[in-house]
Amino acid sequence: ELPPYLQLLAEKGVVLDESQVSAVMETEGSLLVLAGAGSGKTRVLTARTAYMLDEKQAEPSSIMLVTFTSKAAAEMKNRLSSYPNMQRGKINQLVTGTFHSIFYRILMFHDASNWSSNNLLKKDWQRDKILKEAGKELQLSEKEFAYDLALQQIGLWKNSLLMPNDIKPASDFEESAVFLYKKYEEHKQKQRLFDFDDMLIGCYQLFISSPSLLEHYQDRFQYFLIDEFQDINKVQYELIKLLSGKNKNVCAVGDDDQAIYSFRGSDPSYLLDFEKDFPDTKLVILGQNYRSSHEIVSAANQMIALNKKRRLKRMEAQYASGIQPQLFFPFDEEEEATMIVTDIQEKISKGAKPGDFAILYRTNVSSRAIFERLAASNLPFKIDQDAEAFYDRFIIRSALAFLKVSLNEDDPNALNDLLPLLFLRQTVLKDIKAESILKDCSLLEALSHIKTAHAFQEKKLKKAVVLIRGLKHLSPAAAIEQIEKEIGFLDFIKKRGNESNKLEKGSDDLKDLKVAAKSFTAIEALLEHAQHMSAMNKEIKNMSRHFADAITLSTIHRAKGLEYQAVYLVGAVDGSLPHDFALESYRAGDDAPLEEERRLFYVAMTRAKEKLFISIPNYRRGKKAHRSRFLAPINKKRKTNL
Ligand code: ATP
Ligand code: MG
Repeated sequence: ELPPYLQLLAEKGVVLDESQVSAVMETEGSLLVLAGAGSGKTRVLTARTAYMLDEKQAEPSSIMLVTFTSKAAAEMKNRLSSYPNMQRGKINQLVTGTFHSIFYRILMFHDASNWSSNNLLKKDWQRDKILKEAGKELQLSEKEFAYDLALQQIGLWKNSLLMPNDIKPASDFEESAVFLYKKYEEHKQKQRLFDFDDMLIGCYQLFISSPSLLEHYQDRFQYFLIDEFQDINKVQYELIKLLSGKNKNVCAVGDDDQAIYSFRGSDPSYLLDFEKDFPDTKLVILGQNYRSSHEIVSAANQMIALNKKRRLKRMEAQYASGIQPQLFFPFDEEEEATMIVTDIQEKISKGAKPGDFAILYRTNVSSRAIFERLAASNLPFKIDQDAEAFYDRFIIRSALAFLKVSLNEDDPNALNDLLPLLFLRQTVLKDIKAESILKDCSLLEALSHIKTAHAFQEKKLKKAVVLIRGLKHLSPAAAIEQIEKEIGFLDFIKKRGNESNKLEKGSDDLKDLKVAAKSFTAIEALLEHAQHMSAMNKEIKNMSRHFADAITLSTIHRAKGLEYQAVYLVGAVDGSLPHDFALESYRAGDDAPLEEERRLFYVAMTRAKEKLFISIPNYRRGKKAHRSRFLAPINKKRKTNL
């Protein structure tokens, strides 16, 4: 017999199966819902919240409902408001949001002056600047030391609640990073600044240092509901443990096969070992997939089954569509983009809605060609707010700066962009300008007269100037090749990426740029195109907010938890998915990164409801590519046409 509220819900079309009902009704004590993609975990959380509010008359402000993104929180509130007896006023009293937003609110409530958002280090460059300042003490070169990676590492430490003194550096790099970490924290403290990680750490420390305050919140929060628990990190976990210390009413929902944020300190063992800290946990396993067709579910199951580190789950689909996931084999990235956009266009002309489609990729760089095709079409599409335009990427912008200067020897901005690549400080621009006035010559010409500390460097500069001048006679692709080979660009990239910069290797960017450049015969045209695309990126981002019905362009990471009628997975080749760095680790004997890549592949596949298209370009970055090893277990019905 269903309780009355769940009956009401079912009448409204929000049906729950038997296991889901038991997860909803088990409101007291800790509960772990472990289940594969599309099994209704998020639906259970939403229904459970409504059930507690209505049937159990729980105080809305005593419920903490945590989602992985703010978008997911908004979506959840929307869902709730369509449920019976759920007034907006009630919903707004729920404590909902991401860990950061929830705990920041708590901090603000108790100590608004110290945590004013004016003191927040919002941007990477702000934090980067502090590190670089501190790095001077160690004489770490701005050009050669990978500050961006140090920043990432510091974040990892912080989210694992490791203070500088707790860390035993395992390499020279880590040793420098620990030093920078210490200085960074000191600087923030002095200036009363804080970063995003501090919001959680600050709250944790607040609770630890004030048992009475902790108790206050332990009494206030009666229920904790947490989605995507497989991607929780140490500090988040500890916070939940502290706050639920009295009542232990924690409902954790997750899928270890979808743990894809270990590079940010997330750790699925908190999900898998949940019972250790929360004894008497009731376990509910959901085994039905309500999202995807049988064909997609079974392909995804076969693929993920090859991961060794996982908890076995049953996942069965509700319906068969008769449509197998389709592989297709474009020639290269360009044809891949054309095929996808043409296919979507055709389907829309036959009545599909733009919002039915998502195009997913491993890293943002891989979206360049697709972005261009879509921008040239009339189709509405949206991109992530933080997706950097391809042509704005550091390495790309620097390479283009060479081309710009070759066309206009007096372009100060372009010259400024390429100085670091010539191992010159940007303050040198002043000298160059002075020199050009003195000698009445172009800025580029002046560059060859600049005095530096080393004769060999002056010689190199002279050589570079000659090379830059030669570029304008070449095709765009040949010019980039020349920059790469002759101007020490690769040296620069190699030095800077000395700690194998995991995701975004500069040399890969150059390869992508060469592929893009092949479509242009004149350098001017490429430069114009680049400028146009950067502007388009901003415009699309602005419009993305207003589009209700648009094609989604997203990284796989960002598509977590979401679903689409049709999904196109781009670049299913070794080196892209799995990413090169995971293959390298694998060859060195560590298969954890490779398994995470496989989970990423699994997340991508399981976003699709009915149609899944997997693209395997023959060439990628100008080189012969090989079908992703993850596809091996999936049947090989070869289809070249979409
Ligand atoms: P993911 O692991 O990808 O986050 P999930 O387990 O959270 O997936 P949901 O997003 O909650 O799954 O549900 C997947 C889809 O199935 C949604 O469209 C949801 O509305 C639908 N659904 C969930 N449960 C049922 C059910 N009992 N009957 C019909 N549809 C359902
Ligand atoms: Mg979900």
